[in-house]
Amino acid sequence: MLNRKYMLTMGLLLSCLSCFAQKQKLDYSIAPWFNNKKAAVTLTLDDGPPGQFTVALPLLMQHHINATYFVTVNTIYKQLKTWDLVNKAALAGNEIANHCVTHPHFLKIPIDSVAIENAESNRLIDSLVPSQKVITQAYPFGDGGGITVKDSAIRRVAAKYFIGARATQNKPYPFNRYVFAKTDDDYYNVNSAMIADSASMADFGKHIDQTLAAGGWFCPTYHGIADGWIITPEAVFKRHLEDIENRRPQLWIATFKDVVKYHRERNSASLKLISQNALGWNLVLNDTLNNKVYDHPLTVNLRIPKGKVVRAVSRKGKTISHQTNADGITFNTVPSTTPITVLFKR
Ligand SMILES: [Zn+2]
Repeated sequence: MLNRKYMLTMGLLLSCLSCFAQKQKLDYSIAPWFNNKKAAVTLTLDDGPPGQFTVALPLLMQHHINATYFVTVNTIYKQLKTWDLVNKAALAGNEIANHCVTHPHFLKIPIDSVAIENAESNRLIDSLVPSQKVITQAYPFGDGGGITVKDSAIRRVAAKYFIGARATQNKPYPFNRYVFAKTDDDYYNVNSAMIADSASMADFGKHIDQTLAAGGWFCPTYHGIADGWIITPEAVFKRHLEDIENRRPQLWIATFKDVVKYHRERNSASLKLISQNALGWNLVLNDTLNNKVYDHPLTVNLRIPKGKVVRAVSRKGKTISHQTNADGITFNTVPSTTPITVLFKR
């Protein structure tokens, strides 16, 4: 009798412990930027004058920096004559994105024509550069980044075609603060700093430092490199790449689409404990976005209780590499419904 009562008590105690464990909240954070970097940098090159491909591209490749080329379809045809170098840039990991077919003033054309420009340049670039898909835009002349009703309408049209869009110098500072996107509309009004005169060329490193201090996103805009219009001389472009190299350990250097993806995923994702036992945890990292489009890995910092040591992290039987630090572990993985297994050493 006593024995049975004791067993019943133990049973209740155990089930309570496990129910406590099930409800136990994970102690984790998703890094503001990929790989726990302090700030993001995206080099953007507009229009597509030849030097962007003949001069800038080899330099970018030397530095293993992927940039975003917002190409104007007609400019590539007229100035570069061939899409071979555009394809080379894409295959090297650069993003080829939308800057329209004819580079119109969106504020001066009917909103239906804005939609046609967006659709037509996406269709053309997707067929001419088949190794990737266009999902971002820079507004020609920055039309769309303003505060008028038409600007808002331009952004609503952009939202039908793109995951984000870049405006031009519409903030009193040269970067985006981390919390720049309070609404979905803000992803279609990303601030950029024009590299246009001697001051913007000279202040490049300073602007990265300001971005680092803010934990934000620096998204400078180049036009001509060595040729074309609003020209940045090759020597200046080289110096800018050195400015980046000097701060590289703190910077996430990524394409425009990857930064938008990460930022959107990070701000809608959560990590949940699904089940656990002595051997480990089953977790799910998911967000509220379309996982077919939003496929960038997130950096997860997960606190591990004292006394436990992680042996392996895996997903669907595939190992996910992880780093051990003072509080726990860090790993990168794409948000989805597929469970993540964290195995402890016995
Ligand atoms: Zn332009």
